[in-house]
Amino acid sequence: MKIVAGDYFGKNIQFVCRCCNCVYEVESKDDWNIQMIFPNYCSFKYKVPEYGVTCPNCGHEEYLGCDQDDLIGTESENLHCPWIPLLKKRTDWNERYRVEPIRE
Ligand SMILES: [Zn+2]
Repeated sequence: MKIVAGDYFGKNIQFVCRCCNCVYEVESKDDWNIQMIFPNYCSFKYKVPEYGVTCPNCGHEEYLGCDQDDLIGTESENLHCPWIPLLKKRTDWNERYRVEPIRE
């Protein structure tokens, strides 16, 4: 079988917009919509990135969630994040796409 569009493991990460059906590529971490969230409810010392991406054609936002490895030991440890573990299987994830958590 062959993937025609929406290849997560090609040269770039390719998404198919579920609203307008266009195909777009995320080339680096600069293309993510990153929202820093606090995984511990009563502490603001540790912030982790929540990943998302916006379709450049129609503006539809796709929520991708957090990297579960960033949440280990926090109160949000059991947050369900199916996307990032999948995308992290890319060998260039850390180098090109990973956003670091912030510890103060
Ligand atoms: Zn779109």
